Order: sequence, then C-alpha cells, then structure tokens
Amino acid sequence: MFEDDLKRLDASHLLRRLRVIESATGPTVTLGGRPVILMASNDYLGLAAHPRLKRAAIEAIERYGVGAGASRLISGTLPPHVELESALARFKGAEAALTFGSGYLANIGLIPALVRRRNLILADRLCHASLLDGCRLSGADFRVYRHRDMAHLESQLRRRAAGHMTLIVTDGVFSMDGDLAPLSDLLALAERYEARLLVDDAHGTGVMGAHGRGTLEHFGLEARLPYHMGTLGKALGTSGAYIVGPQSVVTYMLNTARSFIFTTAPPAAIAAATVAAIQVLRAEPERRTRLRENREYFHAGLKALGFRLPDTVTPIIPVLIGDVDTTMTMADRLLAAGVYAPAIRPPTVPKNSSRIRTTVTAEHTREHLDQALAAFRTAGQDLRLI
Ligand code: PMP
Repeated sequence: MFEDDLKRLDASHLLRRLRVIESATGPTVTLGGRPVILMASNDYLGLAAHPRLKRAAIEAIERYGVGAGASRLISGTLPPHVELESALARFKGAEAALTFGSGYLANIGLIPALVRRRNLILADRLCHASLLDGCRLSGADFRVYRHRDMAHLESQLRRRAAGHMTLIVTDGVFSMDGDLAPLSDLLALAERYEARLLVDDAHGTGVMGAHGRGTLEHFGLEARLPYHMGTLGKALGTSGAYIVGPQSVVTYMLNTARSFIFTTAPPAAIAAATVAAIQVLRAEPERRTRLRENREYFHAGLKALGFRLPDTVTPIIPVLIGDVDTTMTMADRLLAAGVYAPAIRPPTVPKNSSRIRTTVTAEHTREHLDQALAAFRTAGQDLRLI
C-alpha cells in the first residue's frame, strides 16, 4: 500500500523529498556542497544566525541545560519562558502572553479551546493547514469562505442559525500568496455579527507595521482585537508560537489548550534567544527598512521580467506558474543556476496553482537579488513563461 501510493505520487511529480542545507540559514546557504542564493526562508530579518540570539541561547544552555525535562505545567517552566512571555506581552502592548512549542501546536490547541462543539467556524479557504486542522479538530461546525471574499463571508454569517456562536479564522499574511487579510473589513463583520476573530500573524510578526508588531499594527487595529496568535520561527528567527491578550484568555488557554498542556516545554535556550530577538527588533529597525527595500526591488524586478505575480506588500513573492511539471522544471533550472527557490505544489496550494514561492530577507544584497533575477529571466525564457 505504501509503495503503490508513493509510486503514484512520484508519477505525478508530487513526491516530496528532504533537502539538507549544510550551513546556517542566511542569504546564501550550502546545498549539495556548493553555495546557492536562498530565496525561500522565512527568516525575514536575518535573526536566525544573529550573534545576540546565538549568545543568548548558549548562555541559557550553560545555565539551564538543553531540555526542559517536563511540560510547562509540571516542572518545565524556567525563567527564560517567563521572561519571554513578559517580553511578548510588552512588545505587543497586551496584558499577557502564552507560548507554544510551534505555530502548528498553537493553532491545533487554541481553536478547539476557543469554541464549543455546537459553535460555527468560518475560515478563509487559504488559511494555513494548522488553522484548518485546528478547526477540524475542534469538532465545531466548520466551513470555509472564498479567499478574502467578504461578501461570501457575510452571506455565511447571515445564513447561520440564530445564536450560533461563531469564530472567524484567518491568516494575517497568507503564507503561500503573501497577500494580506482584509482585517478592517473582517473586524467590522465580526463586530456586526457578534462573531469572534482569530488572526494568525505568523508572517506579519516582526515584519508588518511601523514597529514590526504585525499586521494588526499595519492596519491600526491593535486596540480593537482582544487577542491574536503568531509564530516565533519566522522573522523572530527562533521557533515556537504565542497568543497575546488579556490575562483571562492566557489563563484559560493555559488550562485548556491541550497542545500547551500535554507536551514538553520548549528548550529554555529558544525562549532566551527569542527574548534577544525582540530586543534586536527594537534596536535594529534598519533591518525592516532593508527588508522593505529588498522586497520592492525584487518584486519590481520580477514584474518587469513579465512573470505572473500578485501585487503583494510582503516579503513573500509567489511566481505563479500553474502546472506541477513546469513549476518543478523551473525550480530545477533555478537551482542549476545557483538559486534555491523551491516549487510549491498541491496539497500545499490548490490544484493548478503551483508556484515558485520566493521570499526576500533583510540580508540579501543587491548582487544576490540581481543574480536571482538573472536566473529567473533565463529559466523563464527557456520555459516560455515570459
Ligand atoms: N501559521 C502560518 C500562517 C504559517 O505559515 C505557519 C508555518 N508555515 C504556521 C502557522 C505554523 O508555524 P510553525 O512552523 O511554528 O509550526
């Protein structure tokens, strides 16, 4: 059974394989023994290998060891965990914060804790898989609305049974498309129909907004949304996830979110490094400026070449291709030219929307971006995409 399924996946070019990056992540990495320009990392600000983060992690290991030894509620809460939660709450201007081992864990724990079985969940069709899995796991009545389609969402809100408590779920920045959720409209609908709204700001945290507080800051909505979640493994350069909000929400999650309760605490070194990341975010705002400039440059460059791109304002720039085979060939050609920007295929994205998902970071130089654009031009012309 396994072999047959794997053969079928392979025949349709949907078999996934691991690629080993043989160096620290950065604008260039070593792959297959040679340097390549990396256009695929979510380490948007280049913090994953930042000296301050590394030092904080090493010092925490020296002091607390490597593993936390137990779950947070047993004996796994160490000072760096508490410091991180205070730092996150301060950074976000919230009363309190709770951290999780990963964004996937946060979403499959938070959503079931936010609803009861007979409630309704309405989620954007392109929400991250972890949100969709959280929705399914909750056992609530769960439906999707068309991507960013507020009329469709409103029609579903209007049609729901009276008294049907509703949770609307969305990414802040959509991970595979790089576009933004229409958060002002979503919040207005949530308020009008007395629904709750959960925003996953995995890709907005550290990136969006004048201070990097995220997509809510970008839209000026921080004061109107009581809680939201985000992740630490992208712009903050470490790993894990958080929810920020009132103390009551945090205490509730600490008591009910199963993926917080029944898992070993994240290593103290990761929490300590994340505290350092929040400090760097404040101390080095030029990283966000460079990220924005690089994003503009690369987006404009790809557009000028004639590629099909959505008009995003985030560092996620997907080059839309469509069929799996051409997308795979494009990724192979790019890699042969020294640019690693892998193909994203179903089921990560809907059928016929395969793409090369590129991301830029603050650490890319103009030379890196020019080299990547040259590789895109040659490969795109060979495959008659431009
Ligand atoms: N939410 C979104 C929107 C994401 O893009 C991701 C990661 N790709 C996650 C959640 C999961 O986060 P983590 O990688 O920390 O599990």
